Parts: sequence; C-alpha cells; structure tokens
Amino acid sequence: MDTIIKKIDKKQMNREVIRKAGQILKEGGLVAFPTETVYGLGANALDEEAAKKTYAAKGRPSDNPLIVHIADMSYLPEIVTEIPEAAVKVAERFWPGPLTMIFHKSERVPYGTTGGLDTVAVRMPSHEIAREVILAGGGYVSAPSANTSGRPSPTTAEHVAEDLCGKIEMIVDGGAVDIGVESSILDVTVTPPMILRPGAVTKEMLEDVIGEVTVDKTLIRPDSRTVPKAPGMKYRHYAPKASLSVVEGEPKDVVEFINRQTKEQIAKGCRVGIIATAETMNQYRSGDVKCVGTRADEMTIASGLFGILREFDADEVDVIYSEAFREEGIGSAIMNRLLKAAGHHIVKV
Ligand code: AMP
Ligand code: MG
Repeated sequence: MDTIIKKIDKKQMNREVIRKAGQILKEGGLVAFPTETVYGLGANALDEEAAKKTYAAKGRPSDNPLIVHIADMSYLPEIVTEIPEAAVKVAERFWPGPLTMIFHKSERVPYGTTGGLDTVAVRMPSHEIAREVILAGGGYVSAPSANTSGRPSPTTAEHVAEDLCGKIEMIVDGGAVDIGVESSILDVTVTPPMILRPGAVTKEMLEDVIGEVTVDKTLIRPDSRTVPKAPGMKYRHYAPKASLSVVEGEPKDVVEFINRQTKEQIAKGCRVGIIATAETMNQYRSGDVKCVGTRADEMTIASGLFGILREFDADEVDVIYSEAFREEGIGSAIMNRLLKAAGHHIVKV
C-alpha cells in the first residue's frame, strides 16, 4: 500500500490533515502520529480487526496489549468498570501527560486490544497533534510505539517511515518528539498502585500525590524466575543490530575501560560505536563516538537514546559500548530501556 506522509505544524494545525487521519482511523486503518513520548501507531481501539492490523504491521506478538489513548476524561468511564480514588488523583495531576494507567476493562474494549487481558491500559497524551488525531478518530485510539517490534522506538517521522512505510495508511509528521522514552505505566487495580514501566512521571512524583507506590521488581535488574507484570516488558525491545554492553563504574574507569575495549575490537577488524555524554565525549580516542546528551540535564539523554541506537544501526557498527546512568528520576527509564537494548549485558569496572 502507499503510505501518505503529511507534515503538520502543531502551532498552525492543518485541519485537512487531521480530518484525513480521523477518517482513516474510523474506517479501520492505521495512522502514525507524534505524541510527547514517542510516535504512536494509531488504530481504532474498539475495533478488533484494527488491532489485528496493528500487530501485523509492527510484527508484534499478539499477547502484548495496546494502550488506549483518549483526549478527555469524559471518555474514560466508557472503557473501564471502575475508577479508583488513586487514579482520580493521579489523573488530575499528570493527565494529559506521559503516564498510562491500568484499569479493569469494560465490555466495550475488545480482547484483541488488551491481548486477552481483563484489564486495559489508558493514557491521555498532551501533544496537541495526538489529541486532535484521537478526537478526529472517534475518541479511542490504541497507539503502541510506531516501530517494527524489536527495533528502537521512533522519535521522528523518519524513524516511523524506515520501519512502516508501505505497511500503514498514513504518517502525520509533526517533527521530533519531546520526551523520547515511552510513558510510565501505573497499575491502579492493585493497592498500593504499582509501576510496571518507568517513564518521565517518576516514582517520586507519583508518591507525592498518592503516597506509597511499589515498582515491579523485574524492571531494571530482572532475575530469570520472575515475569514482568506488563506483558510487553518481557520482550527484548529496542535492540540495535550490534551487540551492546553497558559499562558501570567511576566515570574515569568507565572511559578507560571503553577506550581499551574499543582499541582491541578495532584491532580485530570490528566497527565500534560509543554512547558518550557531553561530559566525556572528548575523552574517547577511537571508535564512532556519539553524544547522547548531557548529565547536567538527563531529559536530553532520554530524548537522544533511541535515535542514537538507530544511527548505530545505519552506521553498521558491530559492537556498542554505553556509559551507564544513575537509576533515579528519569534515569530509571533511561537505564530500563538501555539495559533492555543490551539484553541486560552490564559490565562493572
Ligand atoms: P507500547 O504500546 O509499545 O508503549 O507498549 C505498551 C506496554 O503497555 C507494553 O509493555 C504492555 O505490556 C503494557 N500494557 C498494555 N496493556 C496492559 C495491561 N492491561 N496490563 C499490563 N500491561 C499492559
Ligand atoms: Mg513499543
């Protein structure tokens, strides 16, 4: 199929582009659009057939449920059976925004969308284009990351086109996204609520509003006996084509170790990529050195990470070394994605 690609400016929304996107969604088609986290692959969340198309286009395992996106609180009661008090408080503070909550689903939500679960994940994005597309598409739009399953999530329309051109009806190009890692997921069907995926809304921020919040222990350092509670978190996501190692230790030792390894690998004829920071990038002596962002503002690292992994794919490096990041605040989300990309290969120096 031919994929329509339309640029749109969020400050001067082209109504015709939004109308077209809405029409495709209502007819059961697939439209990729920007959100504040990553690009989403939109489909009508209440249409089982549209969900099937989503799984097929992404090559995503069908037991990995989709997140339903809404644009207004008034849409929520239709798709859930109960809105716990904690969810009301969290929604008041963090919606619209980069946070997903898990509820018990109502009959309106097909099992095709929830991967067979009786619960449903719901998010209300803040990105103006996302909100307009959702409303034009009927109000309930499932939108997993708009990448081929297993590849880094897309933070630009070009990334979406790389993976999905010819497989979906339309890409709405609203430029690069802001945050760059997927939403935090909070399960509010349990007490206390539990974080199933770390994101830009952190544990500390949630605890500020609702008190105790637990974290699915498998998220950062999984052990082989426990399965993550969000079905999608068990898959090796975000994988670059090269083998990636995350190196943890004192900054000076990390740089020294990576320099030594890089020299050895190059001597063997391998191409080496290095994920560096503004603070260290001048200290690397060889290899394909890319700066992911600055430790002085970790949000820059979140927004740079997936793009850099894709760049290393394009550069066809064989091995990637990345510095590790502290696992606090947005750092939990960064390390969660980085370690998944590395298949949890971490080197302590
Ligand atoms: P993505 O759409 O690519 O951002 O991935 C969606 C994530 O949300 C996956 O990790 C899913 O497993 C998770 N998810 C969606 N629905 C549920 C649910 N009902 N219960 C637990 N996790 C969910
Ligand atoms: Mg994804």
